[in-house]
Amino acid sequence: MSNVLVVGGAGYIGSHACLALREAGHEVVVYDNLSTGHREAVLGGVLVDGDVRDVEKLKEALRNYRVAVVMHFAALISVADSVSNPIAYYEANVEGTLSLLSAMVDVGVEVMVFSSTAAVYGKPDYSPMCEDHPTRPLNAYGESKLAIERAFPHYERAYGLKISKLRYFNASGADSKGRLGEVHDPETHLIPRAFNAVLGGAPLEIFGEEYSTPDGTCLRDFVHVTDLADAHVRVLRHLQDGGESGVYNVGTGSAYSVREVIQMVERVTGQRVPTISSPRRIGDPSSLLAASDRIQNELGWMPIHSDLQEIVESAWRWHQTGWHGSATGDAG
Ligand code: UDP
Repeated sequence: MSNVLVVGGAGYIGSHACLALREAGHEVVVYDNLSTGHREAVLGGVLVDGDVRDVEKLKEALRNYRVAVVMHFAALISVADSVSNPIAYYEANVEGTLSLLSAMVDVGVEVMVFSSTAAVYGKPDYSPMCEDHPTRPLNAYGESKLAIERAFPHYERAYGLKISKLRYFNASGADSKGRLGEVHDPETHLIPRAFNAVLGGAPLEIFGEEYSTPDGTCLRDFVHVTDLADAHVRVLRHLQDGGESGVYNVGTGSAYSVREVIQMVERVTGQRVPTISSPRRIGDPSSLLAASDRIQNELGWMPIHSDLQEIVESAWRWHQTGWHGSATGDAG
């Protein structure tokens, strides 16, 4: 088993990946500047407080902890934010990853598992989308992830690295034992925002109700964060067993509309979700649906927790308890 540096390991997906890595027997070192991550999400082990653009600090961490593999989750992730503030997205997501790669090359760490996104695809030509679907991002978030995906083959060839990319669809849900869950501030994601509306916060804005979808709202493929974490462990094992690097979609192949998600939130919470109609969010594709056959066939991954009801139930449990009694409060 290996020492794994989990960059962004105090964030939502990174922290769940740390749990899965530990359960698989790996030693985990979290590297995170806690700008959006949370100290409470680091459940044991080491936390190095550092910025992903600090090459010297990264090198020190790679050396000090004899790191064999890097998992890279640290990124800015809001589609809407990326449209209004692309500088921040290119700096954090592109420059940040390039710093990490430089540190790895200098120290001689050769394996990385990278968080990418379905946002690299843009408007679907067909659905569900496989990994070979054309990549035409609709927003700076997707562009920043695609830019770095495109740099990887050059680094792999020149420096002997192996880098696998996981293109996540809509990460959601929370750890089934209630140890971890989603805490963003401000919260932009649909399910926790629906909970905030149920709990007396502002009504949930529905961003666009006239898309060319069956009920007019966007369709998304919701994948449980614990299933995503398991995908990372499998990809890591594959690379360490001498497998080739690759790109994998991670989604379920089932799409739910924003309205269907709201209905599930109402069923699970037993309360009505107050909603208001809002304009479309710039940069939102009408539909994102994964064909995940590659990771299923090559690595035996299955979305075993990603039934929408289980996703919403686990997220709701977390939202009510969290680390502080109320996971996300008003803002988050
Ligand atoms: N959405 C919405 N109201 C909200 C948050 C999200 O209508 O308050 C919609 C959003 O437009 C998208 C879907 O819900 O169609 C999922 O958005 P989210 O931000 O959760 O994830 P994304 O698809 O951007 O990764």
